[in-house]
Amino acid sequence: MAKTTTTQRVPIQYLVIHCTDTPEGRHITSDDIRRWHLKERGWKQVGYTDMIHLDGTVERLVENNDDAYVDGWEVTNGVRGYNRHSRHVVYVGGKARNGIAYKDTRTPEQIKALTKICKEFAEIAPNAKIVGHRDLNKAKDCPCFDVKAFVKEIGIKQ
Ligand SMILES: [Zn+2]
Repeated sequence: MAKTTTTQRVPIQYLVIHCTDTPEGRHITSDDIRRWHLKERGWKQVGYTDMIHLDGTVERLVENNDDAYVDGWEVTNGVRGYNRHSRHVVYVGGKARNGIAYKDTRTPEQIKALTKICKEFAEIAPNAKIVGHRDLNKAKDCPCFDVKAFVKEIGIKQ
């Protein structure tokens, strides 16, 4: 887990939900994400703090102290222009089995894990918003489901 040297500490404003943009049912590893983001795209850090696997296991990709601030060493590269005050979480999936059509492919286990993450985040940072990548960048389909509706459904007021 690489740390950056920046000393920023800003109040967190967004928890942004993403998908890996990979076919339904396909297992993806954190090494895949590191390869895509660090090697192929040349980013200094991966795009997400946490990764939700198909079986609902949550893997932490970048260190985080889970408070209501974004420290420099916690910054990930999920959405340009929003990273310094956001945390990003990704679920594995987002495409239909043919790999072409966008689809909400969340497994029941992933929904359960995401629910827990969102509820904990809302407790820690009640003034921050939980949004989908596409809510911040209209050119994107990620994460392929209506995050605002989901958040409401699980009982978080924002
Ligand atoms: Zn995304």
